Amino acid sequence: MRKPLLAGNWKMYTTVQEAKELASAVVGAAAKVSGRDVMIAPPYTALAAVGSVLAGSSGVLLGAQNVHWEEEGAFTGEISAAMLRDVGCAMAIVGHSERRHVFGETDFMINSRIKGGLQSGLIPVFCIGETLKQREAGNTLKVLEDQVRAGLAGVEVTDGSRLVVAYEPVWAIGTGKTATEAQAQEVHAFIRSLLADMYEKNIAAGIRILYGGSVKPENIDILMQQDDIDGALVGGAALKAESFERIICFQKTAY
Ligand code: PEP
Repeated sequence: MRKPLLAGNWKMYTTVQEAKELASAVVGAAAKVSGRDVMIAPPYTALAAVGSVLAGSSGVLLGAQNVHWEEEGAFTGEISAAMLRDVGCAMAIVGHSERRHVFGETDFMINSRIKGGLQSGLIPVFCIGETLKQREAGNTLKVLEDQVRAGLAGVEVTDGSRLVVAYEPVWAIGTGKTATEAQAQEVHAFIRSLLADMYEKNIAAGIRILYGGSVKPENIDILMQQDDIDGALVGGAALKAESFERIICFQKTAY
């Protein structure tokens, strides 16, 4: 019942021209498969241009890399959900580990961003993940539970397809180290059970849980075979048309 979602986070890369070219290649790649959603999140400067490339043509969704909770106001450097909707965004990444660890975003801010995004009709892609130190101390599940409960505190979900959770172990982001499929599946099943505790059963069952952290053409197939992995949030490999195409075209056949 959960449609796989392959999402590309372009971070602080691409000029407007490069973004348009990459977006066109993604449109072409996405047309080769069916039964899955594809999302790309370019930098803010390229959102409108990429929105035009995607408009009307493809099933490729436009995403932002963050969203502010207010509709407008004196919030220098921030962008509202209404502004993102205006350029065609359907989704917004929230709580990415770079926002948490480099820019000091708190659970409270992340919770507010999720609420603001949902209220304006954006689908939040809510990122959580443990650091290496937390994993080695045996605290992974506790850390994730705290992040989920704080990030989703007071967040009403009436349709599971309107919320996406992305499990991204901090130690696997941009490092080339991927969680094994068994490690990822264990955590995803745990997140699934947490969601079932927080929301009605059928709603929780509809929330997609993505894996992120050095996803590449070589590991996407095995990751996608895990019961509770509903897709991937991809950084580095989403910046190259060929590798993102291979990820979009993952194969879920038995090994
Ligand atoms: C990310 O930025 O969300 C990410 C998972 O990056 P990478 O795929 O490069 O590890």
